Parts: sequence; C-alpha cells; structure tokens
Amino acid sequence: MTDATKTLCPYCGVGCGLEVSPPAQPGKATNRDSKGTPIWKVQGDRTHPSSQGMVCVKGATIAESLNKDRLHYPMMRDSLDQPFQRVSWEEALDRIVQRFKTVLATQGSDGVCMYGSGQFQTQDYYIAQKLLKGCLGTNNFDANSRLCMSSAVAGYIQSFGSDGPPCCYDDLELTDCAFLIGTNTAECHPIVFNRLRKYHKKNQHVKMIVVDPRRTPTAEAADLHLAIKPGTDIDLLNGIAHLLMRWGYIDSEFIEECTNNFPAFAEVISHYPPEVVAKICGIEEREIEIAAQYWAESKRVLSLWSMGVNQSSEGTAKVRNIINLHLMTGQIGKPGAGPFSLTGQPNAMGGREAGGLSHILPGYRLVKNPQHRAEVEQAWGLTPGAISPNPGRTAWDMITGLETGDVGLLWIAATNPAVSMPDLVRTKAALMRSPFTIYQDAYYPTETAAFAHVLLPAAQWGEKTGVMTNSERVITLCPAFKPPVGDGRPDWEIFAEVGRRLGFADKFAFKNSAEVYAEFVELTRDRPCDQTGISHERLHQEGPIQWPCADSSINNIDRHNSRPKVLDRTPKRMYTDFRFNTPDGRARFGAYHSRGLAEPADPNYPFVLTTGRLYGHWHTLTRTGRIDKIKQMHPNPFIEIHPRDAVGLGITDGELLEVRSRRGRGRFPALITKAIAPGTVFVPMHWGSLWADQAEANALTHPEACPDSLQPELKACAVQLLPV
Ligand code: SF4
Repeated sequence: MTDATKTLCPYCGVGCGLEVSPPAQPGKATNRDSKGTPIWKVQGDRTHPSSQGMVCVKGATIAESLNKDRLHYPMMRDSLDQPFQRVSWEEALDRIVQRFKTVLATQGSDGVCMYGSGQFQTQDYYIAQKLLKGCLGTNNFDANSRLCMSSAVAGYIQSFGSDGPPCCYDDLELTDCAFLIGTNTAECHPIVFNRLRKYHKKNQHVKMIVVDPRRTPTAEAADLHLAIKPGTDIDLLNGIAHLLMRWGYIDSEFIEECTNNFPAFAEVISHYPPEVVAKICGIEEREIEIAAQYWAESKRVLSLWSMGVNQSSEGTAKVRNIINLHLMTGQIGKPGAGPFSLTGQPNAMGGREAGGLSHILPGYRLVKNPQHRAEVEQAWGLTPGAISPNPGRTAWDMITGLETGDVGLLWIAATNPAVSMPDLVRTKAALMRSPFTIYQDAYYPTETAAFAHVLLPAAQWGEKTGVMTNSERVITLCPAFKPPVGDGRPDWEIFAEVGRRLGFADKFAFKNSAEVYAEFVELTRDRPCDQTGISHERLHQEGPIQWPCADSSINNIDRHNSRPKVLDRTPKRMYTDFRFNTPDGRARFGAYHSRGLAEPADPNYPFVLTTGRLYGHWHTLTRTGRIDKIKQMHPNPFIEIHPRDAVGLGITDGELLEVRSRRGRGRFPALITKAIAPGTVFVPMHWGSLWADQAEANALTHPEACPDSLQPELKACAVQLLPV
C-alpha cells in the first residue's frame, strides 16, 4: 500500500492497528463505497502487535463514516425551542467564555461540568483535566467510561493499590483455561476473541468457561457455559472459590507472602457450597464443580470480563471477586494467567492514565490523596491547594445537578448521553432544564444535539493527531491523514483555546499535540503507567509501545517477526515480581456476600431485562448507523424472549411487544429464541430516537450504581411485557 498511514481503529478497546490510504492512488482503481463515492481505503496493519492485521466489520468499514452527516461549523441558539444559527468560532467561543465567567462568579467552579469520552485521544483528556481540575479548581470532569469501566478501575485500585490491567493479549495464547464472565467477547471484542478461539480450537487441553445469562456466540464456543441468573455472579465466584478451598487447590505460599485479608475472604466463601450456589444461580451443582475443576487443573487461568460485570450495582465487588480467585491460586503476574478487563472504548485506558474520571488525576493519581494533588499542582505551576480535594460529579451526578439547578454549564464532548445514560426519560428532562449546554461532536444530527445551546464541530479520527492506549496497555500514534471536515477542530485545541480566553494563556501554550503528550508523560514518571520513555517521535519511528516504558531506548515490541509480538525485554505483564502498588506491596482480598440486582423481578415487573451490544454496531449508532453494510447486518432493534414466555404472552416471532419498567417504556419486535432463559429478556442498547421509534433500551434502565465505582447498573432492570 502506498501513502498509507498507520493508525488505530477508533471503535473498541481491543485497539486494532489500521493502515489507511487515500481513495485515489497512482496506477490503482479509486476506492469507493457501495454508492460509488470515493472513500479512503482501510485494512488491518499486520505490523501492529495487538491485532496482527486482523479487523472486524467496524474497523473495515470505518472510512464510510468519515464524511457522512458531519457537523461542519459552530451553531448557537438562545433556547432549545429555537432553530440553530450558524456562527463563527469567535462568536461561539465568546459566548462560551462569557457563560463560564457568569457561572464561575455566581455558582463557583463546581457549577461547571464537562462530560467527555473514551473516544478522546489522550491529549484531549489531558487538556480537559488541566482546564477543569487545575485552572478552574473543579473535579467535575467525568467520561462515558463511568458507564463502562469504572468498576474495573475501582476493583484494581482496591485489590492492587492502583488501576491497570495486569495482562496482555499474548496471554490469550498461553493460557490453559479462559474464564470469560460478563463478556460477549465474540461480538464486542471480536479480534481478542478471534485470537482466543483459534488457540482454543488448536489446543485440546485448553478450556473455555463462559458465564453469561444468554447463550451468546461467545457461549456457543465454550466448553462450559454457566447460564446463571442475572445478578448472581458473586455467588458463583464465591462458590468456585469454596470448592478450590475445599479441594486444597490454593497457593498458600502466595497468599501468605503476597496478600492481606485472606481470613475474611475464607470465612465468606465457607457459606457457598455448590448445593447453595446452584440454587441461587439457577444452574446445576455439577456445572459449578466442573468450573472449579477447570480452575484447579489449569496451571494458567486467564479471566476476561467487560460490561456484564462492570455495569452493576455491585460491580466493584464482582471485579474483586474475580481477582480473589487469581490471588488464592497465585494466578497472576505469569504468562497466560491473570485478571484482564476488556476495555469498552478505544481510549478509555488513555483516559484513565490522564485522570479522565471525576475522582482521579493524571498518572493514576487520586483526587483524595493530598500528595497526589500536590504533585499535579506543582507540575501545572498552580498554587498549593488549587486542586479540590473533593471528587467531582460523576456522569449521573451531572444529570441530578441539572435537576437541582447546581449545574450552570454542561459541556458534553464526543459522546451521546441522550441515548447511553440510564433512565432516559429523566435524563432528557434534566437536559431540557440545562441553562447552558455546549455539545462538541463530529456528527450532526445526534440525539444529544437536540439539547444543546452551542454546537462545536470536532475534528475526528484521521483529522487530528494524538495517541490512544488499548486494553493491553499498548500506545499507538494516531496521526491526522486528512484535513478536518468544515471548520472542525481537535477537541484538545478547543479546550486549550477556552483556557487561554479564561486567562490561563501560559498553561495552554502548546504548539501541537506532541507537546501536549510530552507534558503529560512527565506526570506518569515513576507511576505504574510510566510512559516517560515514549514520545510522538518514537511512536512515529518505531510504532506502538506498551507501558510501563520509562526507558527511551527500550521498545518491547518485536517487529522483525512476521507476527509482531510484545517481548519480555520489559515487563509486559504487571506484578511479575508479585509486589503490588499498595503501601505494603501486598494485594488485598475482598470479602463479599452478594446483594443481587438493585431492581429484581417482582409480581408487578416479572421479567429481568438485560441489555447489550451487537457485533456490527457501535454504541449509539453515531457512526455505524450511517454505514450501509452494518445497517443491513443489524437493521432493527428487537427483544429476545424465550419460547415458553412467548407462549405465555401469546405472541409469535416478529410481533411487537411493549416493554415497561418503572421509568419508561419501549416497543420492540419479538425475537423468540432459546438463547435467553425463561424470565429474562434481552434488548440491544444501540438504538436512540434518531434511528427507531420507541426502541430505546435505556428508557427502561435505572441509575442505581455501585457504591464504590459509582457505575450505574445498566445491565439489568425489572420489566413487564405486554403484547401490542
Ligand atoms: Fe476496531 Fe475493535 Fe473491531 Fe478491532 S475489534 S477492528 S478495535 S472495533
């Protein structure tokens, strides 16, 4: 391929490498979409260590989204009942700065909120943190990662002393047993699953356990599918631990030398014999025994999880219970073994590194830690005490802050909360009450644009240069390969411009994104996510690099092999020395009894609704809803229902079902299938009001959240079903 740019797929956290080349190249036919429009050519990058040339349908068709329904220029209006008027950047920025000054003067800095996105590049995240948490002194920055990975973050911090997935993708091909819980990896992280599936098929001794209430394509591939009732994960995990303990398959030396709090955990799991767990989880005792047997017989167990675990009112406890199994068996810090969260968004990892949630600061630091605040204040040239010691508003707290009038300015960027937030009726009513909402996005229209006073056109993937970190901590440079559409600007440049106009010119004097990254990596020095050995220049010359990387002469990725791999020259796994990031270096067991679902089924709402994603679509359809091939693959929303329940309701395949929860309702054609258990139904979360009538999954869901991670339980709620 000539003139190809190496970059990263901007959809999911697998982080596949792509090569992108212009539509027209000398001596080659022009590349066109299905309608004959010239489009950029995209193919997998064989030299990328994480994906080795593989891509799924989303990555393969990404170029088709580049020019469709883009927001071309800033627009404004005084109230939500007025039409937007095109304005210049000057006019838009003047209005924004004026509003900032008014809110800061009348409500203080906590009257300002920004809701960002795992679609941001690390530079976007970093500049937003510097503006809000540093210059303005409010921690009211949260990202859609709150709805996605914050339970994993909280679980890692509580168990290991810091965030950071300890494993790498090579572990997929080194394990003896893959334990997949709350993850439909085949559809949601397809290239990770491809690697695991190929290895599993080739190696008879390798076991795959899938824990999921639905019989998903992932479950179809498993040696053992545990179709537990929604909300019983902790019981199952305690049950497996109980058997490992009873059979003596624990690593006593590791527990003794490397962990704390094992006695409390041992006491809890003593209450979970298989006969008790089987009843709670709705599975056979024998199935629990087989799962425990696979764990016991495997030298190397790799656990993978994503939203089915995280999006829960006890998400942190679930994550810690997965980690508990690894700690009690010493299955961590070794090839093929460990707890491995699969990140949802392409750069949620970079966001976590840059401090992109309301309770954290750059370099895996915590808002509540005085030393961490002082370190960041010093790096940013701020007066001591400039950073607030209080965690800011989470995503959902921003909605409630609009309800109470405590939020005077809401800035939403690169995300679509009018589809993805829980309890959409309440969310939209709150957004309607917002005194001033800035919405910054690459696309128009979106559902959230309807709630904005100012629309700012953002440059998107391929139109700006920055870095992203994938689930295995590999950082890839994503260079601009085309100019922005219309007047679009990179997100970080917009934040920096507002910072300069608010009087912080010296803090935002960056000439380019390489300088932003260079400043950011200094804040990772001697931290678990140390990237001080990495720069744009190195990434450009050498390709992707995995952190930790404090040495600019070491790159642990072997590019001389036909199949590039992360090498052992630097630790490609965390905790290989079995020392953790806690003050005493020991990992901590968590001890939990399950509380179950926040809203279980009851006589009035007798079904449990679960939500999830489909192979081709991405989140709220902002991109994939505009790609013909993917629309054909998944044309409409639907509700999966078991045949027995369909008979009970007197409905046939394709008939409309009205689904009601305590908060809202929707109408979905029935897809009758034994893939779902009786008493449970499934709706994909992708469709918002722009794409389908009354088919919003999140009109039904509730915002009850995990008390530790504050991640809402988007995965399950109680509903009633009525034939239409
Ligand atoms: Fe993109 Fe994820 Fe598909 Fe890879 S698996 S091509 S990162 S959407």
